Amino acid sequence: MDLGLKGKTALVCASSKGLGRACALSLAREGVSVTMLARGKEALEAAAAEIRAEVAGNGATITTVACDITTAEGRALALAACPTPDILVTNAGGPKPGDFRDWSRDDWIAAVDANMLTPIELIKATVDGMIARKFGRIVNITSSAVRAPIDILGLSNGARSGLTGFVAGLSRKTVAHNVTINNLLPGPFQTDRLRATAVGAAQESGRSVDDVLAERSKQNPAGRFGDPAEFGDACAYLCSAQAGFITGQNLLMDGGAYPGTF
Ligand code: NAP
Repeated sequence: MDLGLKGKTALVCASSKGLGRACALSLAREGVSVTMLARGKEALEAAAAEIRAEVAGNGATITTVACDITTAEGRALALAACPTPDILVTNAGGPKPGDFRDWSRDDWIAAVDANMLTPIELIKATVDGMIARKFGRIVNITSSAVRAPIDILGLSNGARSGLTGFVAGLSRKTVAHNVTINNLLPGPFQTDRLRATAVGAAQESGRSVDDVLAERSKQNPAGRFGDPAEFGDACAYLCSAQAGFITGQNLLMDGGAYPGTF
């Protein structure tokens, strides 16, 4: 299916690795010119070079901005490089796990800043241009924890739910202008972040990280972890011309781990 995105532009946040990188690649394959960003320049340039090589000749250009998207300076740099994106994919690192009794006000502010206010600031900076141009697709990478909270990820459960509530309201106003806003909720996907979450469990149990991950993957109804490419392609679909009637939705991609009927 041709997603009707050739010649569009996208700002894809936190995209040198993992889910963000997969979204950048899937969009670039559709002929979208992508601005990628991450804090670490080396990994960012390497990811951009790989994507350029993959999509060579299809008209998509790949631009990079090394910045921390959770800061005002970082957002200014990203928006200077891509001031009028047709597509915005918001993403950043997730908050730390732990016990809520140990979290200070500063920990909460950092989580809300990164996983709620940063996407809202980026939406604020780009959505009116999309409305004026009568095309816009915004996808927020959130977490399955919005649907089924994970106790040790209270900072994520809270901050991302705040973003979800905000988007639920705004997305019903923008859709009349062919500007949609949706959230993609990853369950366990095979990324560096997933590996990092297994290190503690491996140390505690005296097993290898690979053993812990293998056991966890078998516990998923799909019998495996998600492939970031699956996530990237779902993102590209939500950004497609055909998806203009889908807005305010929370698409859970977890291999069936969430047990509810709805
Ligand atoms: P990942 O593989 O660790 O990749 C994270 C990417 O984000 C890297 O490119 C990283 O580059 C960049 N990044 C992090 N903080 C940034 C910042 N402040 N500014 C700019 N770039 C930043 O992580 P992932 O698995 O793709 O996860 C992406 C998001 O999905 C996270 O919020 C995570 O909590 C959430 N999530 C993931 C899973 C999963 O199974 N993978 C499940 C649920 C939720 P630099 O470090 O160089 O900046």
